Amino acid sequence: MAKLKIVKLGDDTLRKVCRPVDKITPRILTLLDDMAETMRAAEGVGLAAPQVGVLRRVVVVEVEPGNLIELINPKIIAYSGTQEGSEGCLSIPGKYGTVTRPMHVTVRALNRHGETFDITGSEFLARAFCHEIDHLDGKLYIDIATDIESN
Ligand code: ZN
Repeated sequence: MAKLKIVKLGDDTLRKVCRPVDKITPRILTLLDDMAETMRAAEGVGLAAPQVGVLRRVVVVEVEPGNLIELINPKIIAYSGTQEGSEGCLSIPGKYGTVTRPMHVTVRALNRHGETFDITGSEFLARAFCHEIDHLDGKLYIDIATDIESN
């Protein structure tokens, strides 16, 4: 595994729409491993491939330590409720903002074996799913935050 460089705000990569993964190659598996390592090293709870300069629809989320969720070609297939809360981004260090997201989100994705699965998250996990999947379409939380503050 290797720690990757995290792309920061201002880099065009963060504004691009990512391509789906059509075949799960060893390169994609390495990307998943490296993204998890990079996220943990940065003390983040989620990371999307464009944040490490790779324009593919790949996300890792780890809201509970040790419970790594790998998402390939993730799509939000259902959502309900709303929540307002604070959000930050490893690509926008030192800032956070208030963002309204659904309270419950169901995501359909492929796992590393190429199998389709559905996962439902609530509260902070739902927020992480939305934030990371937005990255795959070049969207950042600062686009929808009602206020942005420095910490
Ligand atoms: Zn982010």
